[in-house]
Amino acid sequence: MERVLLFILSLFFFYQLSYAENGSVVVISIDALHPDAIVKIKPKNIGKLIDIGVSNFNGKSVKPPKTLISHTAMVTGKTPIDSGYNSNVWKSGDPTVSGETVFHDAKSAGLKTYYIYSKQKLGFLNNSAIDKSIFGKDDSISIAEKIILNEKKPYFMFLHISGLDEVGPQYGWLSDEYLEEFKFIDNELQKIIDHFIHSKNGTIIITSDHAGHEKEHGTDHPEDYKLPLIIFSKTTNFDDIKTSSYSSYQLRSLVNRVFKKK
Ligand SMILES: [Zn+2]
Repeated sequence: MERVLLFILSLFFFYQLSYAENGSVVVISIDALHPDAIVKIKPKNIGKLIDIGVSNFNGKSVKPPKTLISHTAMVTGKTPIDSGYNSNVWKSGDPTVSGETVFHDAKSAGLKTYYIYSKQKLGFLNNSAIDKSIFGKDDSISIAEKIILNEKKPYFMFLHISGLDEVGPQYGWLSDEYLEEFKFIDNELQKIIDHFIHSKNGTIIITSDHAGHEKEHGTDHPEDYKLPLIIFSKTTNFDDIKTSSYSSYQLRSLVNRVFKKK
């Protein structure tokens, strides 16, 4: 009897180990982050990831480069033309996204899934493959930090951070106020970034949904399409992103690179 129990226990332990192999993955989308802001202020914490990870500052949003449309492309892995999801408007009670998403991929890989967002309309992306979905308008980073520092099981988290999308239209993209807000966000991210730098097998991806120009965004202006991509992974090679072109709809396949590495 004891042996059987031991066998079952060791099987359970092995299962835990094998699905933990690829580690946790967090995708952080800093809404409306222009890649030039990173170059301009050399943020302390995101800067550490740039030093030890791989980056691409020539990323591109989908057409049109708008918040909900771009995030839907990231999560579904499809362009707005392919998915048909081309509305930038959603309110509670409206239908949510259907079909497979990056959260389904994470579940299949044995990971717990978290979705933390700070703009109501991103509620459109809620789906049955998400274990825990939390809306936090001004505190999405601290909600995520608490989970990341305490979660013992491997997980996939998509964290959306608002702020620059409000300062940009009010003061202008890359204005002093905009850069100050970005510094603030970077400071807030310190514990999460340090956690992933010191994790045994984690992957952290920092990106955005679109940028903007002057006080405008969402137009066909080339600046509006710009976005950064920064990846630090202890398990998976992403060296190619330094030189390849990247568009936000390709995020799902990048994340799957980590999940599929067994
Ligand atoms: Zn946005």
